[in-house]
Amino acid sequence: MNTPTYDLAVVGFGFAGAAVALQAHRRGLHVGVVLDPHGNFPVASQVASGLINPLVLKRRRMVSDAKLAWEHAVDLFAWLEQTTRAQVFEPTPVAEHLATVQDDLDWNLLAERPGFAELLNSTTEANQNNCLKLNRLGFVRTSGRLLPLAYLEAARSVLERSIALGAVQRLAYNNGFWEAFEASGRLVLRTRKLVLCEGPRAPLTETYWGDLDWALVRGEGLDVHIPGLGLNLPIHARHFLLPDRAKGPDHYKVGATYAWDGLEDPQPTQAGREELESWLKSVVLLPYEVVNHWCGVRPARKSREVLVGWHPEHPGLGVLNGLGSRGGLLAPLKAHQLLVAMSAELDR
Ligand SMILES: Cc1cc2nc3c(=O)[nH]c(=O)nc-3n(C[C@H](O)[C@H](O)[C@H](O)COP(=O)(O)OP(=O)(O)OC[C@H]3O[C@@H](n4cnc5c(N)ncnc54)[C@H](O)[C@@H]3O)c2cc1C
Repeated sequence: MNTPTYDLAVVGFGFAGAAVALQAHRRGLHVGVVLDPHGNFPVASQVASGLINPLVLKRRRMVSDAKLAWEHAVDLFAWLEQTTRAQVFEPTPVAEHLATVQDDLDWNLLAERPGFAELLNSTTEANQNNCLKLNRLGFVRTSGRLLPLAYLEAARSVLERSIALGAVQRLAYNNGFWEAFEASGRLVLRTRKLVLCEGPRAPLTETYWGDLDWALVRGEGLDVHIPGLGLNLPIHARHFLLPDRAKGPDHYKVGATYAWDGLEDPQPTQAGREELESWLKSVVLLPYEVVNHWCGVRPARKSREVLVGWHPEHPGLGVLNGLGSRGGLLAPLKAHQLLVAMSAELDR
């Protein structure tokens, strides 16, 4: 059988690989995808809560390029929904708990600051849900929830005919084409442009870009069932509690923790569960059942900078990695920028 040959291919199909592949497909490129079905490392994009929120609530600051990132994310999700007729994104305000009078005053001041006025509601409201021990709430308006599994599934369906299953172990550059090989030596695909989107375990990227200066962060979360809570938007009060409509009414996600240990073999821990349950009990007045406990690793770098671009010495080799805790929000914009840089290179 002939080896498939593409204009552009991605290695890795989390939020990074999916965004690059979809943005390239939208530009009319013939796009290939290498997807590893047997990876034994938890894939962050499959466990992410999926909040698309341009505000870092804990620090009351904006993600860099917040507005642009939001616009590109919403644009890509809407296009994917139109193309596949699957729902992948739920626009919804995110509510921030304002525990004290001072918090309320601070939020109101924040909402008046340049840039923030476009993201936040100008008024705060008293919590109306008697089952929640919360005081007042402020609202981020430009926010929503990406349904991670539905998103990846829909992205996969668009590219179905050019997906190669496998784990790439070695690359070679021959006559203007990148060739990707599995450990067995099988040639998986050939492509003019190859973009590495490996996430937190990135040996190929490190071969070409050197030390990525990782500051990886393990995160744990819970899936819980809380009959009668009737919460219909995500709330943040140190941790997040968000409706998980895909699982049915009264199902929620709780998370996520931040930990810097256990990165070699990431597993849910008793300490992580206790942290989340203790928080849940401090916020929710109803009994609950833990249905699932999961963990993943955020591909964050010490500099907090996303690694995106084309290699200065290896023609046609690109990367998108280091998306940290905001991959859902940032990947569509970063993928777009990568492709704009590619076109500029071709025009020279
Ligand atoms: C607990 C938790 C909660 C989070 N919540 C949110 C949130 O609410 N909102 C948000 O925006 N972000 C969130 N994030 C962050 C988000 O999940 C990450 O930023 C994003 O998933 C990173 O995507 P990625 O594609 O770079 O990496 P990954 O998701 O790790 O995907 C990399 C993929 O590449 C594959 N791969 C690697 N090497 C190869 C190879 N050689 N050959 C073939 N395939 C390969 C891997 O198997 C994997 O499938 C959360 C993360 C965690 C851990």
